[in-house]
Amino acid sequence: MSDTPSSTPLSRKGYDELALSEADRKFCDALASDKGARRQVAELRVAARAGGSFLVSKGQLVRISCDTDGQVADFDVFSRDNPKEFFSSSLTRVIHGAHLTTGDRLWSHPIYYRPMMTIIADSVDHSTSPEGARPHDLLYGMCDEKVHFRRTGRHGLPNCRDNLTRAAAELGLGPEAVHDPLNIFMTTGLTPDSKMFYIPTRARRGDYMELYAEMDCACAISACPGNSSGPNPGGLRITVFEVPGR
Ligand SMILES: [Zn+2]
Repeated sequence: MSDTPSSTPLSRKGYDELALSEADRKFCDALASDKGARRQVAELRVAARAGGSFLVSKGQLVRISCDTDGQVADFDVFSRDNPKEFFSSSLTRVIHGAHLTTGDRLWSHPIYYRPMMTIIADSVDHSTSPEGARPHDLLYGMCDEKVHFRRTGRHGLPNCRDNLTRAAAELGLGPEAVHDPLNIFMTTGLTPDSKMFYIPTRARRGDYMELYAEMDCACAISACPGNSSGPNPGGLRITVFEVPGR
């Protein structure tokens, strides 16, 4: 055994190799910067405290924007060819870390182990906050009726699980298809004793994440009505673009 410590932590071996290649990064940077080359093909406005569904074909781009300062979006993705292949929060977290940004990919369930989408642009400052939090969370799951009841004592409040369940139904999928989401804009961290926490997101109206579809995708999204979206939750704007020639 060598006495010289490796400069690469052993725990990263096997995962860092899945980062974007230089050629892929150049491809994504060109897609993100050449806005004149894209053509809008669909738009979805998601109302405050509500959810929605949309389709993105392989090679298309989707932009997910805050329509209100401080809004969080819970995002689920399925393969259109086989909805049993869906986004894996845990696999993506292992590969890219607990907070995603430009150049990271959304990976499917480890049975399939394929990139579903690649983040090509992120307008939110990704630096670590004084509290130790970063945006675009893979630590949390989603809010549900039970957590809002415990917090407020009121039953039947809007929540991401119900929103995503309705959105999945629009895609022909049952409630069991709803899976741990990418919490876009949600800004989270871990305390020194490893408890998760969130702080208000820096995202402001018009802030966005753009993703390139690596396969035909069916998507469900919720404008989170929970605390992480602040006291006055708002809506989301989803725009799908095609890039002729790509
Ligand atoms: Zn929520």
